[in-house]
Amino acid sequence: MKHVGSCLCGAVHFEIEGTFEDFYLCHCEKCRKDTGSAHAANLFSSKATLKWLSGEDQVKTFNHQGERHIKSFCVTCGSALPNMQMDGKLLVVPAGSLDSDIDIKPKGIFFLKVRPIGIKTLRKQKNLKITPKMINMKYLLNVVGIHDDMI
Ligand SMILES: [Zn+2]
Ligand SMILES: [Zn+2]
Repeated sequence: MKHVGSCLCGAVHFEIEGTFEDFYLCHCEKCRKDTGSAHAANLFSSKATLKWLSGEDQVKTFNHQGERHIKSFCVTCGSALPNMQMDGKLLVVPAGSLDSDIDIKPKGIFFLKVRPIGIKTLRKQKNLKITPKMINMKYLLNVVGIHDDMI
């Protein structure tokens, strides 16, 4: 399966070959800050490959205090962009950066307790049920490894 994506200003275009295994929303403080929104929405794949079609030199990657909270973005427009994490083992793609449709729905929502905004809006959405079962801490600790300081 092939996906394409780009940044808002159009300088950066990329292509992803492969399927996404997970899709998580995270309300932690870092994700709220780096998205400027109520939560981040990231797709994960351990097998898909990322290819920059244009503007690779416009992509900057920020690693927050070496804590493995990593964000890539376009230096011109600031749009969130994909990056490789876990020494290249994990492709992380901000869902909003994609221009093509995805066939996976969010599998979990993290850090509901720390969210200051947005959750009431989310609960009103009938198609997005939020239950404790969806919070998969094992995933956070073992697979992604991010935010382990916050658990
Ligand atoms: Zn841009
Ligand atoms: Zn987070």
